[in-house]
Amino acid sequence: MDETTRHGGCTCGDARYAVKGEPIFVNNCHCRQCQQQTGSTSVVNMFYEADRLTLLSGEISRHVVKAGSGGDHVIVRCATCGSALWSHYPRLGEHGAGIRVGTLDDPRSIRPDAVIYAAEKMDWVMLPPDIPAFPAQYSPAELLPPERFARLKALAAKARPA
Ligand SMILES: [Zn+2]
Ligand SMILES: [Zn+2]
Repeated sequence: MDETTRHGGCTCGDARYAVKGEPIFVNNCHCRQCQQQTGSTSVVNMFYEADRLTLLSGEISRHVVKAGSGGDHVIVRCATCGSALWSHYPRLGEHGAGIRVGTLDDPRSIRPDAVIYAAEKMDWVMLPPDIPAFPAQYSPAELLPPERFARLKALAAKARPA
């Protein structure tokens, strides 16, 4: 079993979290929305089952924006300093959490599985040669190892009950 626990938090230190186990998948997204929301070139999110994530201290605020799909994307921030900590995206809803890798105490412990929305990246941004890059999305069934794809399928089934 995978017993890793990672810790992270916001810029001011009020909001601290812990997350158990390895992520289901990690995306480096260069879409225009991520550029606007971060003010940067891209975002790096690691996706987990939300029940693996615990807020240890601080208060959070929730900010709802429209995702590319038209559904609600909830950005969760430290209520004091406003750092974005994680997001709930429409596809997995509140069952899933896309945690901002830059908020980890050890962000170097995580590598993206994929670069996505490379077609929207800023022209001068060079992509790493050893991480698969996709113009938009990819097929998780093809890219992810079977046990991680199984976790994603289980989560998607919870988010969209039959
Ligand atoms: Zn803070
Ligand atoms: Zn994006």
